[in-house]
Amino acid sequence: MRNRTEKFSLYPHREKRFIPHAKNGAKTQSEKDKKHTQTKRGAYNIVMEKSLNKRAEALKKCGAKVKYGVPAFSAFGSGGIVSEAVYPVDGYSLSKTIKLLKGEKYVVLGGATNVLFPDGVYDGTVIVTTAAKDFSRKGDRIYCAAGARLPDVVGKCCNCALSGLEQLSGIPGSVGGAITMNAGAFGREIAELITRVDAVTSDGEVVALSPSALEADYRHSCIGEKGLTVLGAELRLTPSSKREIRACIDGFAERRRTGQPQGRSLGSVFKRADGVSAGYYIERAGLKGQKSGGAEISDRHANFIINSGGATSADFLALSELAKREVKERFDIMLEYEVVFL
Ligand SMILES: Cc1cc2nc3c(=O)[nH]c(=O)nc-3n(C[C@H](O)[C@H](O)[C@H](O)COP(=O)(O)OP(=O)(O)OC[C@H]3O[C@@H](n4cnc5c(N)ncnc54)[C@H](O)[C@@H]3O)c2cc1C
Repeated sequence: MRNRTEKFSLYPHREKRFIPHAKNGAKTQSEKDKKHTQTKRGAYNIVMEKSLNKRAEALKKCGAKVKYGVPAFSAFGSGGIVSEAVYPVDGYSLSKTIKLLKGEKYVVLGGATNVLFPDGVYDGTVIVTTAAKDFSRKGDRIYCAAGARLPDVVGKCCNCALSGLEQLSGIPGSVGGAITMNAGAFGREIAELITRVDAVTSDGEVVALSPSALEADYRHSCIGEKGLTVLGAELRLTPSSKREIRACIDGFAERRRTGQPQGRSLGSVFKRADGVSAGYYIERAGLKGQKSGGAEISDRHANFIINSGGATSADFLALSELAKREVKERFDIMLEYEVVFL
């Protein structure tokens, strides 16, 4: 990853150059030409810098930080460069950022635990919500901002003696990502606990969604297809004892430790097919342990592709497409991706 970043420069014109001069101080014709080109280039640089600064200023006014040429940062550890990454500080800043970027190519990400970046350049803007992580509690209800990490939220609920989210404690993503994907585990889906989702449309209008308006289904909600961005959500939980909640969390963590691989992955690659784990079919197709470059179908859970060192997104894709083909051929079942491709 480091090598890739070092080689790639989005703004090569910003690099310092050494310009030689004649010993007596006079300039040769070729040096004069160089100087001329340099002046033109310099003027171009100033225009570029000005427009970038203007953009960064506008984003700053939204309360967001901006970085250019950021290495891809998915949980799988593959991918090239993101040309522009924007980090709103809270839900308000997130909604203002979306309004500012209206009509542009952007994607909103939380923990990037379910997305595969391209190996080259992602040329849109990636809006990262992880700094918007407020959490508050009122009675049996909690409110979490989109970027709050699920494991942190579950821990806080345990401290408040509120039960309901224990099954989701091992899901490494954000609340916004979990609502978008309707994440779930051990028989519990996040949508079951939601009482309201605050979101912003691609036009920048803030809306409140009732649980039914979310159209939640197995690993699906309407958020993605309606171009909405989750700002935060209210969930209703059940009062319980801290000790019982902690015991449940530990029990589910143990089940994950024994049933799932430890390496870098994006969790389940495919959705269940007719209620049966995609891993069942992939295992029966004899693909456990199959490798492509640095990617490998896990020996422990065939629906996980792990990065066993230096895997690219192309390696991931080669394996997942192989699994799809083999399962279709042997069982006449078309697997559907759970992982999102940028
Ligand atoms: C080790 C491991 C175990 C996992 N186990 C499970 C599991 O048991 N159950 C399960 O369901 N998933 C599991 N996952 C997958 C993943 O963690 C979940 O889908 C999680 O909810 C994704 O959250 P995220 O913040 O990482 O989303 P991201 O990966 O950042 O994004 C996922 C999708 O949601 C969209 N999105 C993210 N935030 C927002 C927002 N604020 N508004 C609108 N759209 C948004 C993105 O554009 C993208 O389409 C696992 C992943 C790993 C790596």
